[in-house]
Amino acid sequence: MVVRGGRVLSVFTREWLDADIAVADGWIAGLGEYDGREVVDATGRHVVPGFIDAHMHLESTKLLPDEFARLVLPLGTTTVVLDPHELANVLGTDGVHWLLDACDALPLDFYFMAPSSIPASVFESPRRPLLSGDLESLLRRRRVLGLAEMMNFPGVINADPNELKKLELATGLHVDGHAPGVLGRALNAYVAAGIRSDHEALTVEEGLERLRNGMWLLIRGAEPARAAPAGRGVRHEPNRVLHRRPRSRGHRGERAHQRHGARGGRRRGAA
Ligand SMILES: [Zn+2]
Ligand SMILES: [Zn+2]
Repeated sequence: MVVRGGRVLSVFTREWLDADIAVADGWIAGLGEYDGREVVDATGRHVVPGFIDAHMHLESTKLLPDEFARLVLPLGTTTVVLDPHELANVLGTDGVHWLLDACDALPLDFYFMAPSSIPASVFESPRRPLLSGDLESLLRRRRVLGLAEMMNFPGVINADPNELKKLELATGLHVDGHAPGVLGRALNAYVAAGIRSDHEALTVEEGLERLRNGMWLLIRGAEPARAAPAGRGVRHEPNRVLHRRPRSRGHRGERAHQRHGARGGRRRGAA
């Protein structure tokens, strides 16, 4: 198949290229001049890669995954990375394995992070805590990319053996962070433990310190905890990701998922 006549965004060089896109077996085979059995006319249109939501809790949408996919795919989101934290709180690993199976054959690409913080603190009462053995069973699944946000950041920073055991399981894998207000040596310790990202930075200072430490900074447009202000004034590009946490179905209907996040991000100076 060939997509012809559009202006194609190169996300690597930030150029708009006048080029055809050749697609073979679902993969982009090349940009340039191409002929194909099927030609999609994209004259006058901008063609961009699918949006990826790098961190979301599907439960917050109150939708089953197939219905969620039906709503967001036409808006340009082609991939989501789920942290099924709330499901794991209620149903443990059984719930997460069920969701993995339920997402398997859908046209939207669902990836998962193993919920690392069940419970997130001593004030929560899940069905039962997820221990390292539970996480190991999840990390073996094909679509599980690593450990979800390590919400017990005081535990990680103070080398709580249970938290370190979880991190050890994820050696070489991606581990998301959640460390609101953590700066200085405490942040250094959090990063040194293997945490690779944070979506809780609320100030420019917090954002910059995370980037200086080599973390991915997820700039989120969630309600009510808008972390987007950290995006203003943080001009160091390579490790910034826009991310939004959906609210309800009504909210989703009003705003176009990642498209809204991208527009808001651009207003705030993101690329
Ligand atoms: Zn989260
Ligand atoms: Zn969080």
